[in-house]
Amino acid sequence: MESRQFERLKAAIVQADAEQCVELEALVRQVAARRHGEIALVRKTKAVDETRRCPHCGHTDVVKHGFDKAGRFRFRCRKGADEGCGKTFNALTGTPFARMRMPEKWADYARLMERFTSINKIAESGIGISHHTAWRWRHRMLAVQAMLQSDQVSGVVEADEVFFRTSYKGSRGWKQGKPPENRPARYRGGKAVAAGLSGEQVPVLTAVDSAGGVIEAVLRDRSGIVPALEGRIARGSVVCSDGLKQYVKAAVSQGSEHRRIEPPRKDWLAKAVGGKPRRPGRLGLGRVNGHHERLKTLINRHFRGVSTKYLPNYLGWARASRRPGFGALLILEQALAA
Ligand SMILES: [Zn+2]
Repeated sequence: MESRQFERLKAAIVQADAEQCVELEALVRQVAARRHGEIALVRKTKAVDETRRCPHCGHTDVVKHGFDKAGRFRFRCRKGADEGCGKTFNALTGTPFARMRMPEKWADYARLMERFTSINKIAESGIGISHHTAWRWRHRMLAVQAMLQSDQVSGVVEADEVFFRTSYKGSRGWKQGKPPENRPARYRGGKAVAAGLSGEQVPVLTAVDSAGGVIEAVLRDRSGIVPALEGRIARGSVVCSDGLKQYVKAAVSQGSEHRRIEPPRKDWLAKAVGGKPRRPGRLGLGRVNGHHERLKTLINRHFRGVSTKYLPNYLGWARASRRPGFGALLILEQALAA
């Protein structure tokens, strides 16, 4: 819309009555929903315009500097008396979206992410991006989610590990005759060669509390448990676990209590009829177990295994999906705010 036309429209809107305001509000929301990507980009540009901080060197002597090839506002860090770097940048420089094209497709893409759509299905969805782009965008949007987790858990805390097979899914080495691991490639998520705990499994530590706080870490082995929880359990909490000594140590060293939870012993009859109902308020590992079940369903069954290298991104995605307000807009805005 031309700017003169837009000014006239704004003047007309000022005169709208209450009922028309409600109608307008709904209309704007409807139009905006289809353009979340561009809107998020405009908001980000405005924020950069206000702060005027150079993402390269941090200087604030920044001026507008025309437009780049994609038609985005460009800024320049001035090489004045206080030594700016002289580089140019746009609103996306320094975010995971730097040099990402086609903002008009970001919202549709994020909506597919909201539903955990697979890369193949995204490429076939008619959104108009390639398989490769779909994969790249996924990890650009998830990079920030991998970092977003609680600083601390408190109150009743349940902690446990879940294991995923080490995976080099997508590694080019498989096809180029340089396998990343000394074993044949697994197709469609075959089983680990050695059963149980081995170097073929990577442990993921999870600590959850009753307020929805989650701490998660991909570990090399169980010796990583204590360092991963260092400074992250609020003093005076009650940490529940299966009794592994690392959890006891992590809890006690941070001024919390530790409770060992016995696995439920159910005979065949109790299993068949469901057993006695759980007493409310009783300590258990139900919350962390439920969390791990959801992770396994998502990663092993839905995505048929993910590369260990990208496992933190998928864990972040799963955490995000459990937060209130999760949706396409939030995925976009959090990625842009990075
Ligand atoms: Zn600079």
